[in-house]
Amino acid sequence: MNSISEILKSEFIGKDVTIRGWVYRSRSMGKKAFVVIRDSTGIIQAVAERSNMPEEEFTLAEGITAESSVEVTGTVAEDKRAPGERELRLKSFKVFCRNESFPVTKDKGEEFLLDIRHLWLRSREFTSILKIRSTVFRSFADYFYGQNYYQVQAPMMVSTATEGGSTLFKVPFFGEEVNLTQSSQFYLETMIFSLEKVFTIAPSFRAEKSRTRRHLTEYWHAEGEAAWFGNEEMMQEEEKMISHIIKEVIKDNSEDLERLGRDLNKLKTYTFPFPRMKYSDVIKLGRSLGLDVNYGDDLGADEERTITMQFSKPTFITDFPATLKSFYHRPNPENPETVLCHDLLAPEGYGEIIGGGERIWELDVLQRRLRESGLREDDYYWYVDLRRYGSIPHSGFGLGLDRLVMWICGLESIRDAIPFPRTIRRMKP
Ligand code: ATP
Ligand code: MG
Repeated sequence: MNSISEILKSEFIGKDVTIRGWVYRSRSMGKKAFVVIRDSTGIIQAVAERSNMPEEEFTLAEGITAESSVEVTGTVAEDKRAPGERELRLKSFKVFCRNESFPVTKDKGEEFLLDIRHLWLRSREFTSILKIRSTVFRSFADYFYGQNYYQVQAPMMVSTATEGGSTLFKVPFFGEEVNLTQSSQFYLETMIFSLEKVFTIAPSFRAEKSRTRRHLTEYWHAEGEAAWFGNEEMMQEEEKMISHIIKEVIKDNSEDLERLGRDLNKLKTYTFPFPRMKYSDVIKLGRSLGLDVNYGDDLGADEERTITMQFSKPTFITDFPATLKSFYHRPNPENPETVLCHDLLAPEGYGEIIGGGERIWELDVLQRRLRESGLREDDYYWYVDLRRYGSIPHSGFGLGLDRLVMWICGLESIRDAIPFPRTIRRMKP
């Protein structure tokens, strides 16, 4: 058995090969049938000629339909007109499953296609997106293993909220209720006391009621936490990590990026260091662009879109007012109205992909911030204990992997960055 991509290399010319895959398209011209076959690695044209093969196999080839599954054997030949400039001159044509017709066609509407997402995923575009997604997940983990981080796992069913009650999912739990996790951060914080530097890749759940291009209700969250790190050191780790991921995608998936129409030259410029900008300056920039934003306002997806259209690189936003951020962010000792945190905004209109910063590590400050946020210390007793026993300065971040894939692929909606999107209106397939 051979893969299509290896056959497209010239050393196979004149040799007989066997491939398995699916029919990408086909047309028949009397004595000949042209069947383009795809596998996970690419597409190749196979030519069936009545005189070269058993009659009943030629008949199968002649009448084959899109996305039917086949196994074919043939001789590799050069042909300038074929995709990849190679074709297979067939000797045999076997069928595993012949489709009457395939439901995915160009004239179908978006909702229908989402209903048959399990079939739509076979398109070449989705194949490319899924390959890029695989590289993103792999290179994220590789980067942190390379920096001596340990991979850890946190529970998905939790009793606490990290990002506030409004986006919590409640699920029944033996007569009580638990929440689906919004972030693994607090658990990562517990584990730095054993391992110092940790990361995880896990789903997070947010009951996002508004429909935007960049919110899912279940998304893949890549989080890291490092003992002894300040906000600036964390940003340096993140800019290297993002640069590494982009470099790996360019190295391994340039064909996929081209298929998606992504401008590779632009991607190549996204290397660290990334610029830093204070929140107050972002507000000024927003106002100069005609946005109705004031100091103290949270930037929504639309505002971030306008602002990041101006950026030529991913950019860290720092010095947010404490009122905009969750209780665990460490107030800046030099300006306690603000916290030592950062968001990383992707350029080209994409906006926030990372939120991170230094965590409060002084017991009294954490207790005060819990009170001010209307939270009960009892509910967070284990999180507070971390500040009671051997507390240390530390920082961390959360990266939305689906948002990163969306931006790297240049997609219009986050929905297409994940195979089975979960949004307020969609739970199937
Ligand atoms: P936003 O303001 O866009 O809602 P957030 O401030 O709620 O984001 P964080 O709580 O800081 O986000 O989460 C960390 C990261 O997780 C974000 O930077 C983003 O990449 C990702 N993220 C957050 N919510 C979602 C979501 N609903 N769908 C997909 N990714 C998300
Ligand atoms: Mg949010």
